[in-house]
Amino acid sequence: MREKGKLFVVGFGPGDFKHITQRAVEAIQESDLVIGYKTYVELIEHFLGEQTVVSTGMTEEVSRAQEAVKQAESGKKVAVISSGDAGVYGMAGLIYEVLIEKGWKEATGVEVEIVPGISAINSCASLLGAPVMHDSCTISLSDHLTPWELIAKRVEAAAQADFVIALYNPRSGRRTRQIIETQKILLQYRSPETPVGLVKSAYRDRQSIVITSLAEMLNHDIGMLTTVIIGNSSTFLYDNLMITPRGYQRKYTLNDEQQPLKPHQRLQKEAEPWALDQEGSHTTNDGAVGVLTKAPVKKQTSLDMARKALAIVSGQEISMPAPIVQQKIESLFELAVSPGVANKEFTSKQMITLAEVVGEKGRMEYTPNHKIVLKIPTSEPETITSQLQEAGFLLSPVGDVLSIKACDFCDGEKAEPIPYADELQRILGGRLMPKELNIGFNGCGMACYRAVMEDIGIVFRKGKFDLFLGAKPVGRTAHPGQPVAEGIEPEALVGIITNIVEEYKENAHPNERLFKYFKRVKQIQGYPYRDITPVIEIEPAPCGD
Ligand code: SAH
Repeated sequence: MREKGKLFVVGFGPGDFKHITQRAVEAIQESDLVIGYKTYVELIEHFLGEQTVVSTGMTEEVSRAQEAVKQAESGKKVAVISSGDAGVYGMAGLIYEVLIEKGWKEATGVEVEIVPGISAINSCASLLGAPVMHDSCTISLSDHLTPWELIAKRVEAAAQADFVIALYNPRSGRRTRQIIETQKILLQYRSPETPVGLVKSAYRDRQSIVITSLAEMLNHDIGMLTTVIIGNSSTFLYDNLMITPRGYQRKYTLNDEQQPLKPHQRLQKEAEPWALDQEGSHTTNDGAVGVLTKAPVKKQTSLDMARKALAIVSGQEISMPAPIVQQKIESLFELAVSPGVANKEFTSKQMITLAEVVGEKGRMEYTPNHKIVLKIPTSEPETITSQLQEAGFLLSPVGDVLSIKACDFCDGEKAEPIPYADELQRILGGRLMPKELNIGFNGCGMACYRAVMEDIGIVFRKGKFDLFLGAKPVGRTAHPGQPVAEGIEPEALVGIITNIVEEYKENAHPNERLFKYFKRVKQIQGYPYRDITPVIEIEPAPCGD
């Protein structure tokens, strides 16, 4: 029996020898015969040895496939090569079509191996930054085998659905109209400032990369070797790179200009000042042609209104322009609320407001610090804050920030020190700290709201203040703070506490709680550290153990 041949259908990637896969090289080198378009064969010459090469012109794809099948059936190992991936506008489908026509079956016919390669959407995206990232599609503008009406329909559907779009075969010497039509369709749904990347000959000798905008893209060279990547409604430019965020939801917290940017918080708004739901955001880029600004929210123009009026009086529908697609960027808004520094009483209106703003999709959690943390998916955090403020809530950010917790001063009967608690809240409340820092403020020596168990404890007694520092508020080795001063004059209190907080903020290590800092530096603002904690032999038990 004659030895059966084999057909490799090989995608060799963008065109340089570093971005071809190992398997593609093996397939080419194992073959007796390599068949491909002339330019492609030249690109992989580097890997060729004894193979017979059949290189043909561009339009002879069908005869190339037929020749490949014939040679494989005669017992040869044949590699049919495509640039990028052979299964993306490449030779793979055509080879199967020719085989099927001949009644080929996998079990009995010649062996077929499709070797995947890096397609232009991937190689070109890598040169532009990270423009694909989210849902995307490829559309070939070649109407050689596909009717233009269908292509236009696909462009429109993709534009409407906010896909990132990679346009293959955008223009040739003869075919120039399609890219113009495509831009026209896209502009009906996307902002003219939408970032667009044009990559020509990616990873080849004459590589060129242009970052532009939907409005400007036709002012640049676009040809058969170009891939055009159109951003979605949240794609932005940064430092001459085109980046599409991973999703439409990001985290937003109150008071965020004072908050840390931990890796898990990278998607906060202030980390993305270019986010499209922010007023007046501008990002320029070195040398890039486009400047990304906030996409215009389509306002009703007088023309729109006139058209509507005409439609009503004439009883005829007058066609309206398609709306610009602008996805709302939903934030997960996190903040904490309490009825106030010196008030522990919720009103019914406040509870109703909470239920309203949190809605079905949000969450409410109470904390050990007399607060309720809210997590609300929303694209309008400002509306929520104003509703909460109107209901009389004290709003505070969550995370490693300074919080002040006071007693209710016996329902306000012992009101004398309240202004000092309010003043501290005004100056220090919500400030970013190396680690969560709680100030406990109690109105009498009973200290029933446990001020001495907080990082900083303040107790009002006989018209003056006592100060406690360095409690370890949680854990199995929890202990109160040590008394460092008694009888502080009221006028001096705010200054002293502010200095302590400033010193801690300035000098503590990240994540170093106040008691650890106090123990390490041995004195804060002249108050010496004394080790008053009893020595107890106890196994350390961090979280989860
Ligand atoms: N099979 C190929 C696509 C072939 S269609 C792949 O998967 O990449 C031909 C189109 O692919 C070109 O018109 C161009 O739009 C794109 N293309 C292929 N190689 C490219 C490269 N190196 N740089 C830019 N675009 C490329």
